[in-house]
Amino acid sequence: MERLLTGLQPSGSLTIGNFSGGIRQVIDYQKNYETFLFVPDMHATTVPQDPYALHRNIKSAVGLYIACGVDVNLENMHLYIQSENLYHANLSWILECMTPFGELTRMHQFKEKTKNKEGFSAALATYPVLMASDILLYDAKYVPTGIDQKQHVELARNLAERFNERYKGDYFLMPEPVIPQIGAKIRDLKDPSKKMSKSAENTKGTIFLLDSEKDIRKKIMGATTDSDGIIKFDEENKPGLSNLLTIYSVFSGLSVDEIVEKFKGCGYGELKKSLADLLCEKLTAIQARYKEIMESDIIDKALDRGREYTEKIAREKYELIRKTVGYGRI
Ligand code: ATP
Ligand code: MG
Repeated sequence: MERLLTGLQPSGSLTIGNFSGGIRQVIDYQKNYETFLFVPDMHATTVPQDPYALHRNIKSAVGLYIACGVDVNLENMHLYIQSENLYHANLSWILECMTPFGELTRMHQFKEKTKNKEGFSAALATYPVLMASDILLYDAKYVPTGIDQKQHVELARNLAERFNERYKGDYFLMPEPVIPQIGAKIRDLKDPSKKMSKSAENTKGTIFLLDSEKDIRKKIMGATTDSDGIIKFDEENKPGLSNLLTIYSVFSGLSVDEIVEKFKGCGYGELKKSLADLLCEKLTAIQARYKEIMESDIIDKALDRGREYTEKIAREKYELIRKTVGYGRI
């Protein structure tokens, strides 16, 4: 089985954007690939985190993966926490030594996350190298992600190639990003020029998977649209409305064309109400499963099994790379 790998930072509570770009793809592919699904908790501390909230968000992320449909009973499903495996950071150091700093400060995400900020951590520049290490340690071929992380997967490809060329061997497999056709960039409901993010300061434009029905309705009904009143998919001129159609498609399984046809001649209010109903139905079902999972021992069992399995693979790869670069004794 080929390997597929992805992770969602526990930098906050997971959103419908994270579902769309990350979790949904894992669920679609989980039967056909050996799946490495982890919680990149070390990425979350690129910005300050409250330790208790971080612990809580880690467990909550795993609970949500499973509640959304990740099947922990599959033999080929490996769930684990990044910081419980020491090889991620060790490989990252080796790869960092091969990465020009300018390559990191030119990244879109670096620019976005440091805009108008002072005193930000060096890790905000270097975390894509840690992400490359997360991927390359396991020879993952496919990396499902939203569009925002595509550039980081490309860095992982560059690093794999650079390492293989410098040390003349097939040390790392070239990973490929897997971006969904629809829903690769769910936009902020209030400011559709931005992507929806779990760590956004203003949460009015973000729907969290654990939001109450009341909040879901309020946020959808208050979403920014436009004034021409025509239901049409046009991301450039109607980004807010197109975003609602995209979310509708992601959660209903209908194509955007089918949704446009369904709401032909209707007002935006009607579309919003129907979308709010759909999200409430889907998210309350996820929340009910989540509650049960959080009270059971499913999470710990899955994480223990995942840690044991993935640590072995990571150790082997790291030892090979460590020797290859000349660390330690001959
Ligand atoms: P943060 O604000 O802390 O960066 P985030 O919401 O951007 O959080 P990440 O943990 O950075 O989430 O990303 C987890 C996964 O979710 C990645 O695969 C990323 O591409 C995807 N993703 C994040 N936001 C969106 C979005 N708005 N639409 C689609 N996919 C998204
Ligand atoms: Mg992000």
